[in-house]
Amino acid sequence: MKIALVGIGKIAVDQHVPAIAASPDWELAATVSRKGSVDGVESFSDFAAFLAARPDVTVVSLCLPPVPRYDYAEAALLAGRHVMLEKPPGATLAEVHALQAMAAARGLTLYTTWHSRMAHAVAAAKAWLADKAVTRAHITWREDVRKWHPGQDWVFEPGGMGVFDPGVNALSILTEILPAPVHMTAATLEFPANRQTPIAAQLRFSGNVTADFDWRQTGPQTWDITVETDRGPMALRMGGNVLEIDGKVAGGENSIMGEYPALYARMAELVAAGQSEVDLAPMVHVADALTLGRRVVVDSFDF
Ligand code: NAP
Repeated sequence: MKIALVGIGKIAVDQHVPAIAASPDWELAATVSRKGSVDGVESFSDFAAFLAARPDVTVVSLCLPPVPRYDYAEAALLAGRHVMLEKPPGATLAEVHALQAMAAARGLTLYTTWHSRMAHAVAAAKAWLADKAVTRAHITWREDVRKWHPGQDWVFEPGGMGVFDPGVNALSILTEILPAPVHMTAATLEFPANRQTPIAAQLRFSGNVTADFDWRQTGPQTWDITVETDRGPMALRMGGNVLEIDGKVAGGENSIMGEYPALYARMAELVAAGQSEVDLAPMVHVADALTLGRRVVVDSFDF
């Protein structure tokens, strides 16, 4: 199937282009980006011009930041294209509900991807937890914003979500693996004095679940979820890629390179089956944190 990539920036180049190139299901037939392009692929700088010129490309994958993404998703669905959305799937919950209704009314596929759910050990962790009682869980998601979002001021603009941009990856895993849902009860959000979104957050959920997100960590990065159960401890490390049970490695692989190929394989299945997959559970927690959060002002941040 022919697919177009929209928003040729960091994640498109790092992950989407190689995943599509390696896929047996997809041919990268066009790109749409104001500045970016991919060698050997027809490029457009205007989305409406692409939609008019290439009716043969029936699927679009939107790799733009969340705030500008909605207009592209709406235009694509109105033009009869299936749509795959980077995470987080929107800047607000309501706009994703609107897209979901639009796709359903037209019989089109809408896929809200959560790449971290495709990490090597997430399915195994979910299966291990399925018949256990969780007594406590903690997320530590600490990374260096300068490494992963170099110069990307949009993450600190309204709708950019700040530290929840990576934090929602942890929440996408949490909401996938826990045998029963939890809800947020308190949050502390640390806002740099010169920015609109938090650079760190401490979250408390029902069921003894807590989270510590921080974008100021240099050196080794930490993407861990530890879970205590009635039958011993489990941990997911390296962003869901490595599983530990009772303190010993029990599965997974220390590499993130399988996540995007798995997303594109899933999109191929959904289009072939005429189905959508829309899950907003991780983003509900982000919205709740921004609703409940106690604001703390910290040092200004510049890239
Ligand atoms: P990015 O490089 O800053 O932006 C991607 C591209 O979107 C840009 O190159 C730009 O292309 C286009 N764009 C940006 N702002 C726009 C606007 N206002 N209107 C139209 N086009 C605009 O961001 P990214 O890091 O790739 O992140 C994009 C999405 O992927 C985010 O939702 C992020 O959460 C997700 N993601 C990022 C990473 C990561 O490591 N960075 C990892 C996983 C997922 P043109 O200027 O050429 O139009």
